[in-house]
Amino acid sequence: MTRPMPRKTLAARLRDVSDRLGARYGRPRRSAHRTEPLENLVLTILSQNTTDANRDRAFAALKEKFPTIPLLAEGSPRDVEEAIRGGGLARAKTRAILSALSRIRRERGGYTLDFLDGMPLPEAREYLTSFPGVGVKTANIVLLFSFGKEAFPVDTHILRVTKRLGLAPPSADLSRAALLLEPHVPRGEAVPLHINLIRLGREVCRPRDPRCPECPLLPVCPEGRRRTGKTRKAPR
Ligand code: SF4
Repeated sequence: MTRPMPRKTLAARLRDVSDRLGARYGRPRRSAHRTEPLENLVLTILSQNTTDANRDRAFAALKEKFPTIPLLAEGSPRDVEEAIRGGGLARAKTRAILSALSRIRRERGGYTLDFLDGMPLPEAREYLTSFPGVGVKTANIVLLFSFGKEAFPVDTHILRVTKRLGLAPPSADLSRAALLLEPHVPRGEAVPLHINLIRLGREVCRPRDPRCPECPLLPVCPEGRRRTGKTRKAPR
């Protein structure tokens, strides 16, 4: 009797996806110059519910008005809101930024997140997500790109793509998908997988009309095979 082929583990499937994306897009790395954690936190808060272009404009305007974190922390809510207006949700983002900076100063005696470096990932994430307006995605971006921890940020592109690939459950939201996938992301793959999945989601696996025939993940994607009329099951 022939035994059925064992199903690939989630870790093996994520590795396979990362390899296929790497072959198409290359393997992006985390910048050698670590992004300053507090600036990264501010930038990531500004990125919520807006485009990268609007986020970058808002961040540039904020830096022009408040060149350093201490100056920003002492800024009036009205001035901060005015500076970041182009990024949308300016009032809520102003509140999130100023309250985070004020609490960090109060609790740590200065404007720094360096103490997160020595913390295990779950504790560091718990600390960051205890700030109003900071969710798992924001926390994971800071932990991955500023501290090099094995956090896996999931944005709307990654959520859509991983659901279509059958890697994340259909009902998962951003946080659940991130926490579910993270332990299975092979060591060292979080950065290239995160960046390449976002690129695929923007350029190929678009929300409305995914370009499945040209997608490097078609051979392992149940949704792509359904859309292209291929009947053979995608390998699992
Ligand atoms: S094959 Fe289609 S549905 Fe699957 S990841 Fe690629 S573009 Fe998205």
